[in-house]
Amino acid sequence: MMQRAELGKRTGALHSRHLRDVRPDFPALNQQVHGKPLTYLDSAATSLKPRAVIDAVASVYAADCGNIHRAVHTLSERATERYEGARARIARGIGAARPEEVVFTRGATEGINLVAASFLPSIAKPGDEVLLTSWEHHANIVPWQQAAARLGLHLRVARLPIDRAPVAEDVLSHVTDKTCFVAFTELSNVFGVGLPAQEILQALNARGVASLVDGCQGVVHRSVDVSALGADFYVFSGHKLYGPTGIGVLYGRYERLAAMAPYQTGGDMIETVSFEASTFAPPPSRFEAGTPHIAGAIGLAAAFDYLEAHAAEHTLSEALTRDFEDALAAEEGLALLGPRPAHTGIFPFVCPWGHALDIATFLDLEGVAVRVGHHCAQPLMAELGVTSTLRVSLGIYSAPSDLSRFLTALRSVRQRLA
Ligand code: PMP
Repeated sequence: MMQRAELGKRTGALHSRHLRDVRPDFPALNQQVHGKPLTYLDSAATSLKPRAVIDAVASVYAADCGNIHRAVHTLSERATERYEGARARIARGIGAARPEEVVFTRGATEGINLVAASFLPSIAKPGDEVLLTSWEHHANIVPWQQAAARLGLHLRVARLPIDRAPVAEDVLSHVTDKTCFVAFTELSNVFGVGLPAQEILQALNARGVASLVDGCQGVVHRSVDVSALGADFYVFSGHKLYGPTGIGVLYGRYERLAAMAPYQTGGDMIETVSFEASTFAPPPSRFEAGTPHIAGAIGLAAAFDYLEAHAAEHTLSEALTRDFEDALAAEEGLALLGPRPAHTGIFPFVCPWGHALDIATFLDLEGVAVRVGHHCAQPLMAELGVTSTLRVSLGIYSAPSDLSRFLTALRSVRQRLA
């Protein structure tokens, strides 16, 4: 078992300046839960928000509270400028070739549904295959399952190893002449382990197979350049990237978006409307029917600014990540799951001495927030032979003290339950 003094030693010097700079920016950290200081270890579910993001959202409602695109008055113009400015900011942040390749959605889930509804029917013919992997989140399974049923397609699954990091061939060996689309996660939300996305995409592009990357966790842990990556579509949610909930991005290669039918229809996505027929605006407006989450988009752009300003800390401290992984691996009565080491801030585990739900509930009473459940990955849970796991996940504000508090709390829960 790793000694507490040792934990601090490796991470302390490297990390303390960063934490002094970053932690005060996250007001939610400054609270007690059940009378104990909050130890937030659920950032993969949703990250805490820096003051800069909270202020950006509040400033939209406080000052620039107009609807976009539809009026000439000043508040509307300001809101439009900030909303479109947010699009351009995010396009730059993810390496899109142009702002019009960024479609604002409610989140990754909506982005995937949009592609399944608007793109897949344009390339698939009955009998074709859609390929997924066994590591997918339900958001990257169910929309394809539904679309496959509607279009007469076969859903194929590339079973990825659970004891080593996947290689490109683990996915590519399942591509056949009938494969018309491949959707896969860049980084598993269960294991915190990545797929070699660029290598997979190069091979798919060479074979002319269209693709979507679920970047929900990847965008948090890797710097993303969608143009270099080479996917046709890349989706993520703002709330895991220190931005607001209810806003996300669908990146699509412009020529793909331009050839796609609308997803939802209504205001702000049309060119002309008569009772006989309507024509549609070019992307991205074509895919943003109705009043969007204006403040959310602006808040997400503020998150990109915040992360850029703290570029050195954008990625998690490697030393801290290693310390968590080493300490959890060494902890008696705790079994880490999946390929290890993963070197990201996501750690799934089970404890044979107690039920995961009970453990998480007692940890909460100690002020420690961890995830418990199937992590929206029931097929992967079935493969692991469990119905649920516990999961600890880190954010850029995570500190060595979170690790020591977690271990202390877990040991005391164990004493109570075992
Ligand atoms: N994919 C992955 C890998 C995720 O981790 C999540 C969120 N847990 C999603 C998709 C869905 O994201 P959202 O619920 O924000 O749409």
